[in-house]
Amino acid sequence: MYSKKYFIANWKMNGEPKDLDRIYKIEKFLKNFKKKINLNCIFCLPFTLLGLINHKKISVIKIGSQNIAASSIDYGAFTGSVSAKMVRQLGCKYTIIGHSENRNEGETDKDINKKIEFASSKNLKAILCVGETFNEFKNKKSFNKVKSQIYSAFKDNKRHLGNIVIAYEPIWSIGTGLIPEKVYLDSFFKKIKDLIRKDFKKNVPVLYGGSVSSKNISSLKNIDCCDGFLIGGASLKTQNFIDIIKKYYI
Ligand code: PEP
Repeated sequence: MYSKKYFIANWKMNGEPKDLDRIYKIEKFLKNFKKKINLNCIFCLPFTLLGLINHKKISVIKIGSQNIAASSIDYGAFTGSVSAKMVRQLGCKYTIIGHSENRNEGETDKDINKKIEFASSKNLKAILCVGETFNEFKNKKSFNKVKSQIYSAFKDNKRHLGNIVIAYEPIWSIGTGLIPEKVYLDSFFKKIKDLIRKDFKKNVPVLYGGSVSSKNISSLKNIDCCDGFLIGGASLKTQNFIDIIKKYYI
């Protein structure tokens, strides 16, 4: 089983150059904490900040983008887009792919499938977001929805599975403070893990995302088979993010 836990920050459309100091502060905290814990800490920043990070100031923390272009070419006539190669050149090791906020803006399963391939071909690990709407949850369609998102993302990408981390984010939980019950999450995570192991013969890390905070981490840390967390709002506050990690390892 994975002993190395993921704590992934998603700053979304937030952050000014001066706010990068928050990351250096968290790096300092982790450096002192690092002897006792084993974690992957990744900050997924807006494109505007990726080139401004001082990589000499971070060694524990890795940097990721929040998306990449759905294009196989590195440079070209795609106004407003940023390719996997461009992101990689800025020192990123990860990229979020398929966040519900982007799916909502028209990103398709096909785009997501291609982006996983483009990310992997440039040595970027993909943080693949999957999750259901509240209606689907109410109608007991969550697992079928997530299963179809995973199948579609993995199609023809089997060789890239070692480069993928899945974040299960119920859409109705993002930014709302609503979190599924632990018994539900325990069985849901087990089902996802079993599915991937059985159908794709791989152990892919699966994280939880949706309203994670320093207030609820003490109970969320007990979700069976959960390899870590994708954290939006609470990752913008330095002390909140530090407290999430501290409380996880208490
Ligand atoms: C997210 O957007 O990926 C997320 C998990 O957001 P929040 O933690 O704010 O719910």
